[in-house]
Amino acid sequence: MSIEHLQQLDKIVSLSKARGFIYPSSEIYGGLGAVYDYGPMGVELRRNIRNQWWKAMTRKHANIVGLDASIFMHPKVWEASGHVDGFNDPMIDDKQSKKRYRADHLIEGLIARLEKDGKVDQAAKVQEALDTAGSRDGLCEDLEAIIHEYEIKSPDSGAFDWTAVRQFNLMFKTQFGAVAAAGDNDGIYLRPETAQGIFVNMKNVMDTSRVSIPFGIAQIGKAFRNEVVARQFVFRMREFEQMEMQYFVAPGTDEEAYNEWLEKRMSWHLELGIRKEHLRVAPHPQDKLAHYARAAADIHYHFPIGWQEVEGVHNRTDFDMTRHQEFSGKKMEVFDQATQSKFIPYVIETSIGLDRCMLMVLCDAYREEEVEGDVRTVLKMHPALAPIQVGIFPLVKKPELQEVASKLETDLSDHFTVLNDASGSIGKRYRRLDEIGTPYCITVDFDGLEDQTVTIRDRDTMQQSRVSMEKVPSVLHQKMDAWAP
Ligand code: ATP
Repeated sequence: MSIEHLQQLDKIVSLSKARGFIYPSSEIYGGLGAVYDYGPMGVELRRNIRNQWWKAMTRKHANIVGLDASIFMHPKVWEASGHVDGFNDPMIDDKQSKKRYRADHLIEGLIARLEKDGKVDQAAKVQEALDTAGSRDGLCEDLEAIIHEYEIKSPDSGAFDWTAVRQFNLMFKTQFGAVAAAGDNDGIYLRPETAQGIFVNMKNVMDTSRVSIPFGIAQIGKAFRNEVVARQFVFRMREFEQMEMQYFVAPGTDEEAYNEWLEKRMSWHLELGIRKEHLRVAPHPQDKLAHYARAAADIHYHFPIGWQEVEGVHNRTDFDMTRHQEFSGKKMEVFDQATQSKFIPYVIETSIGLDRCMLMVLCDAYREEEVEGDVRTVLKMHPALAPIQVGIFPLVKKPELQEVASKLETDLSDHFTVLNDASGSIGKRYRRLDEIGTPYCITVDFDGLEDQTVTIRDRDTMQQSRVSMEKVPSVLHQKMDAWAP
């Protein structure tokens, strides 16, 4: 990762704070690790991304319906899903700095350094050891052996003074009502993913809405993971939001549905205005698939921290529904009218983190441009995502201009998010709104009072055009529809 890239992430972090997108949680108390709050601009941006996703999933697919399941779920859910036994990361502690690291990440760091130094053969050897870790002894023992063999030092203290590698469960546990207080149960978990709420409600949804195989259930909601390495801004958080859709299909049609959804999800990212060259599909190699998956791919975005997953598309087979049948004792078979057969449905999952998606949008939109010897910072994001879509500026604070601006504000606010701002020089007002990604700014001036016109200034080109006041809404709609990254 180059210094330049890291600096770019730092700039996005500062802009996010300065312009009211993202704040560290509980900042006046020093913050809380890997937990963030969203300010006025962040809230709008997130709402717009959510809406785009919801529209693409439910409005564009008559056979996909919504759900809002609770964060708390019966503890057995997490036994059935495999999270109690298997949702672990292998961790190692630096005894000197007391910092904890993911053992596999330390090894990946070594591989990256070797590659950078041109020691390709050695890098390949370590990679092979990492790839086969867990196949002979336990995973922890194998990772520990690699760390010792190559004397990998602690990134922070530089020391080589490690504890053993141990598995660390990522679920947050909490107490539940009086029962837990009386010591009668082990407490319950905050959900680490939203998908299980969909699986346990599959029958309810089928019984109460007019869907039948193939059909999908879409859900947006919070998820919690006690991530150990969480130093990458909103890329990896302990409390985050997921947008997941589980598509229930007949066995034998799963492969086709998987390919279709992978393609659809990639198109969605492009429609969101993300530049094509910053996206790629990374299929999981067959020997790296989770035991229950038949196929899986990540959609990667080229973040300043490198190519990273932003969304996963998985063919989860009938694993989930079979497990819930087993653990709940309730039948999960469905009857398919088309083939007159009974089966446990296969599941194709699409799963994207809202926060990570928002970071992708911010990274892709962030530009610094030379303008007349000055640097302008601008977020060139899709107009449909912009937290404020239209700025309205009376040229100066005069009642005649303010009156027209207020009328425009009222007319436009039914269609767009609007900000009416009369303070500061016009140049400063443009720059402020460039920094939050406002695609269009309307200026009301004295000439316009004469001939009923205003100017519309385009964020991306900075060009201004005169438009008759009554045509403003239609011109804005046209511009937004025609926008391309
Ligand atoms: P990673 O390998 O990055 O930890 P994952 O494979 O565990 O991700 P999934 O369980 O497939 O991720 O979750 C689906 C999506 O949820 C991810 O693609 C990502 O966008 C988002 N996500 C997962 N964990 C986090 C997190 N800790 N913070 C923010 N978003 C997350």
